[in-house]
Amino acid sequence: MKAVQLVEVGQPVQMREVEVPAVSGKDVLVRVRAAGICHSDVHYRAGTSPVLVPLTLGHEVAGVVEQVGPQVTGVRVGDRVGVHYLVTCGQCHYCNVGSEQFCVEGQMIGKHRDGGYAEYVAVPERSVVPLPHEIPFEHGAVMMCSSATSFHALRKSRLRAGERIAVFGVGGLGMSAVQLAQAFGALEVYAVDINPDKLKLAEKLGAIPVDASAGDPVAEILRLTAGAGVDVAVELIGLPAVSRQAVQSLAVFGRAVLVGLTDQLLEVDPYREVLCKEAEIIGVSDHLAAEIPLLLEYARRGLLDLSDVVTRTVPLDARAINEVLDDLEQFGGGGRTVIVP
Ligand SMILES: [Zn+2]
Ligand SMILES: [Zn+2]
Repeated sequence: MKAVQLVEVGQPVQMREVEVPAVSGKDVLVRVRAAGICHSDVHYRAGTSPVLVPLTLGHEVAGVVEQVGPQVTGVRVGDRVGVHYLVTCGQCHYCNVGSEQFCVEGQMIGKHRDGGYAEYVAVPERSVVPLPHEIPFEHGAVMMCSSATSFHALRKSRLRAGERIAVFGVGGLGMSAVQLAQAFGALEVYAVDINPDKLKLAEKLGAIPVDASAGDPVAEILRLTAGAGVDVAVELIGLPAVSRQAVQSLAVFGRAVLVGLTDQLLEVDPYREVLCKEAEIIGVSDHLAAEIPLLLEYARRGLLDLSDVVTRTVPLDARAINEVLDDLEQFGGGGRTVIVP
């Protein structure tokens, strides 16, 4: 089969001819119908997030079951599925308590093992989720990463009906967060960004735009909430200055949820910004397999729609994929691009 692989870190990905993965036991072979190109893939290609090569990239996958191992009982050949990107053991403490993103043997497809930039991908039955017919493969693929992580972040935030939320950074994750927050019953959703196109789209999706390039977004959120602040602030960018703004925009009992990755220190004023308000700072790591069917149900009902987010498809072609990765590397590209083999 054809697979687009990272053969040398720091170099363009390459088209290679490889064996179709053999399935045994509880494995499922999925014919890839859509594979999202993610900003994480840029980090793997560049070496800023280390991986072992050669590696078929692609952790945002949707497709059709092509073949099942002899011990597979829950899915059948021909089923439409989304692929949860974590392959977990199902045996360890974390798997047993339903927090399998901390599985001691956990592997991410497209990072620790071959992923979906290929005609087929093999994963354990545990990692596939039925994909409702109402959801296109291209949308289903992207939901397996950014939407699922936003969904988990909102659940971690304990956002309740009637609360106010600010979403800092309305890129791929943020557009899902804006829609899902409304589905969760948020009274007001503030979308904070510096990109006018993203702000416009977030507004179309129901958010109140806050242009961080026009002034201090914390002051603007406080103005818009009559000085109260927001109950939940989600940071999706990974910049300490923005995390700080998320904390500063909180109301009494507010929760700041940190999703964006950074290795830089976050400065907070413990008394004024946390203790005084009984505020919380909550970390978010990936998402849970158990959340994906629920997320897909929100999407099936139209409460999450990626039509304006997934804006482009490319074939399974190394040159086209490298161009998309180049675009992402320079923070260009706008919407999300999905490979359709
Ligand atoms: Zn991703
Ligand atoms: Zn485990």
